[in-house]
Amino acid sequence: MQDTVVIIGAGQAGAQVAQSLRQGGFEGPIRLIGDETTPPYQRPPLSKKYLLGEIGSEALLLRPPAFYTTQNIDLIPGASVSSIDPGAQRLSLENGDTIGYDKLV
Ligand SMILES: Cc1cc2nc3c(=O)[nH]c(=O)nc-3n(C[C@H](O)[C@H](O)[C@H](O)COP(=O)(O)OP(=O)(O)OC[C@H]3O[C@@H](n4cnc5c(N)ncnc54)[C@H](O)[C@@H]3O)c2cc1C
Repeated sequence: MQDTVVIIGAGQAGAQVAQSLRQGGFEGPIRLIGDETTPPYQRPPLSKKYLLGEIGSEALLLRPPAFYTTQNIDLIPGASVSSIDPGAQRLSLENGDTIGYDKLV
């Protein structure tokens, strides 16, 4: 059984950690938790084409949503981490759910 890696923050750094783990051959569970409702996107979204409405917000995504499925990365959007219990290796979300981890990023 491989370690479960949990990444807090589904921004550019979090998405890259998840991708690099897969590229490096890690096959265990990866959970990418972000408090925004969208998959990781280019930040800030100041593309002139976007601001002019010439492209949609989906063009700003760092990777297409299908990437997380095909890479078996459990993207958990709209979830805010409120506390971490390192002793128990668990974190709590603002909605009351708890998630266990072996490695936390
Ligand atoms: C005005 C401006 C212009 C920039 N221009 C450029 C540029 O041209 N080129 C460039 O390379 N960089 C640019 N940057 C910098 C770039 O935006 C950042 O370096 C990059 O976004 C950092 O990524 P990150 O994943 O480390 O952090 P963030 O982008 O801050 O991502 C962190 C994520 O974690 C989430 N989060 C935080 N706390 C929690 C929690 N408790 N629970 C769950 N989720 C949480 C946040 O909502 C966010 O989605 C610019 C930044 C600014 C402000």
